[in-house]
Formats: sequence, structure tokens, C-alpha cells
Amino acid sequence: MFATFTAPSFGPVHNRPSSGRPCRCGTHHDQDDDTLGTPLNPDTYDYEAAVLWNAHAGALWRRFSTYLRREVAKRAGLSQRRLRDHARVSFAKVAEYQKRGAVHFHAVIRLDGPAGGDTPPPPWATAELLTDAIRAATDKVRVDGPAIDGHAHTFTFGRQLDVRTIRSADFNDGQELTERAVAAYIAKYATKGAETATGALDRPLKFAAELAQLDISDHARRLIRTAWDLGARKSLEHLRLRAWAHMLGFRGHFSTKSRRYSTTLGALRDARAEWRRAQAAAAQPERGTDTTYVLAHWVFAGTGLSSAEAWLAASLEPAPGTEGEPTK
Ligand SMILES: [Zn+2]
Repeated sequence: MFATFTAPSFGPVHNRPSSGRPCRCGTHHDQDDDTLGTPLNPDTYDYEAAVLWNAHAGALWRRFSTYLRREVAKRAGLSQRRLRDHARVSFAKVAEYQKRGAVHFHAVIRLDGPAGGDTPPPPWATAELLTDAIRAATDKVRVDGPAIDGHAHTFTFGRQLDVRTIRSADFNDGQELTERAVAAYIAKYATKGAETATGALDRPLKFAAELAQLDISDHARRLIRTAWDLGARKSLEHLRLRAWAHMLGFRGHFSTKSRRYSTTLGALRDARAEWRRAQAAAAQPERGTDTTYVLAHWVFAGTGLSSAEAWLAASLEPAPGTEGEPTK
């Protein structure tokens, strides 16, 4: 399954309702409108919760993965321990910033036989069962966060959960699921890019004063400022919010600046570049297991290759040094 996990609301933002009605501000925003994703009222937008949610998104995901196995076992009528003898749940995810600056996770989640992709899944392991388990685990998962000035934060995923069945052969040949494979899979379907919330800032801040000089939106500036300010609190030291302020609190792996994907191959190259950077980052123990691919903006366009894309993919030779990377 291919699933997209969103962040909850931190206050109303300018948007393009799918109903075709105007935004709550009364405007029909153009697709490229810079105000999209920015708060209708910045003074009531919960910047603190937005930054802290990003900072806890990794923990929320880890707990979700535990719950998912539990929900799958329950539906199969098995204990969690016995599930291992019948099936294996595996997944890999990438992170994406929404325009409002909240992290999304896109994940490929798969159910195989007990020895992984080499063994067929048991008969009960249907796409419907897995979808149902994903939805149940997403509904239940929550992570308690810090209490700040008397306000106790609790983090959940947003209500918008998109789950689709992958019907192509991309992950059906026993290939091990990795973040790299997911990035390549998703990049293959990447369409035109768009600005991400972080825009111009591609490195950690050294001083808060730098913020004033940056060519970024007021919304991004305020998110970064909030992360920086929260980062001064002793009780939040473990979140390292100053070091990750440029990532709006998310301790993921840093991506490229937003860019426009003009071709599918460009997107694939980007996924490869991400992989190399992730390998380099993995060598730094400080980042270690918190490393998550972070892509610029892309949207899900469908599964499978057109006949022209299939021909192109089949005719490509891997570039030197990239042998073994998914190129199809
Ligand atoms: Zn609006």
C-alpha cells in the first residue's frame, strides 16, 4: 500500500477547496499563489504546536509502526508474537513538507510471507486487511509531548489519511523495502514541483539575527523563530530545536532546495542524490537512525509506467557508481 500521513490543523490556512468554492478569505487562489498554506490569521495560528509536531513526527511514526503490527495481528487472529511466523510487515517512508511547513510522511507498506519478499503472503493478508489496519493504527496512535506554560501537548496524525493499493510490479519482486526505493518509486511519479515552506534556508542558523536577512516568507520566518525560541528551553533540550530550526523542528535529513522537476529522469537523479547524502549522513552518528529522506514537493499521479516510460526505463544503462540502484 502507498499511504500518506498528514499533520493535524494548527489553524486555518489559505487553500483551494476541492469543492471549487473560494478560500475562507473569499479569494479563488491561483495554484501558484504564494499565500497558499499560510495562516488566515498568523496571530492565532498555533506556531508552537506546529513546530513541536514536526519535532515529534519521528516518534509518532515509530509508535504507528508498532501499532500497525498489532492491528494486523489482531485482524489475522494471531498474537503479535505468532504474527512473525506467518507474515512480515515492512515499510519505508519519505518526508515531505507541506506548504504550511508541516511534515507529511509518504510510506510504502507491505505485507509478505514470514521470510519477507521471497515468500508469498498468507491468504488472509489482503490489501483490504492492510488498509483497515493502517487506518486503525493511525486513528489510535498518539505521543505525549511536553507541557509548555501549562499547556500539555499531545501529538496525533491529521484526519486526512490517503491509502492506495500499489498495483504495479515495483515492489513485487522480493526487493527489500528501503527509503531509497520509496524515494525512487515516488520520484518516478513526480510531476511539476512547487515551492516548499522552507524555501531559501538550506543550513542551520547560527544566530537568530540571521533570520531578518533571509529571503523567506513571513510564515517560514515565524516557524523558524518559534523553533529557535523554544530551543532555549532546558526542558526541550533533547529536541535540539535550534540545530533543527531551519527544518522547522523536524530532525530529518536535509533535502535540496525546492526545485522544479521538469522531467521524470530529473526526479530520479534527485532521489539518487538524496540517497548519497543520506549515506554520508548515516556515517555521522549524531544523525544515525533519525535520518529520513526529505523530498521537495511532489504529488501522487498514479501507478505504473506509460508505454513510452517503460521503453525509456528499459533502455537506460545505470550511470557509473549507481549500479544496483532502482532505475526501472
Ligand atoms: Zn485565502
